[in-house]
Amino acid sequence: KTPAKTVRDYIRTIPDFPHEGIMFRDVTTLFANPRGFRMAVDQLLHPYAGEDIDVVVGLEARGFILGGAIAHQLGKGFVPIRKKGKLPGATIEQSYTLEYGEAVMEIHNDAIEAGAKVLVVDDLLATGGTAAAGIKLLEKLGGNVVGCAFVIDLPELGGRAKLENLGMDVHALCA
Ligand code: 5GP
Repeated sequence: KTPAKTVRDYIRTIPDFPHEGIMFRDVTTLFANPRGFRMAVDQLLHPYAGEDIDVVVGLEARGFILGGAIAHQLGKGFVPIRKKGKLPGATIEQSYTLEYGEAVMEIHNDAIEAGAKVLVVDDLLATGGTAAAGIKLLEKLGGNVVGCAFVIDLPELGGRAKLENLGMDVHALCA
């Protein structure tokens, strides 16, 4: 009998995307599979069962898909952190360094209540730059980030260490 598939088994790797030499982890195959998607959402939530989370924050763009499902499951609201220029209301912004150059993330300045307990969700943790920028935005608004949950952690890129140095609890389903 073949063993049951795990979350990792539904993720494919596409070589040379978006640049030559990059092995891109493609989670569209995980999201498209009913068993894979449900397992991913359930397992992302598992460590926070019984924890008092007020709001789920997703990082653009795949964090919206996971974060929306998690927020629904928890019966909580969902707040997006987006790339600069996409949010219609008044925002605060945070820049961070990419492999080549800089990027800027934004959140609506009234999206998080001071003291709110926040769960941050994204598909993949690489250098941690994106998540760290998101955490800074949430902390500027007075949010209390109780956890950061990812489907994939690429530990050799240092993201986990970076977030743990910020005092974060990092949860990932596979490497
Ligand atoms: P970091 O800021 O940690 O270096 O990069 C993580 C961000 O880039 C996440 O928002 C993630 O969605 C995206 N990302 C980087 N590499 C990959 C990849 O191989 N696959 C996927 N699905 N996302 C990636």
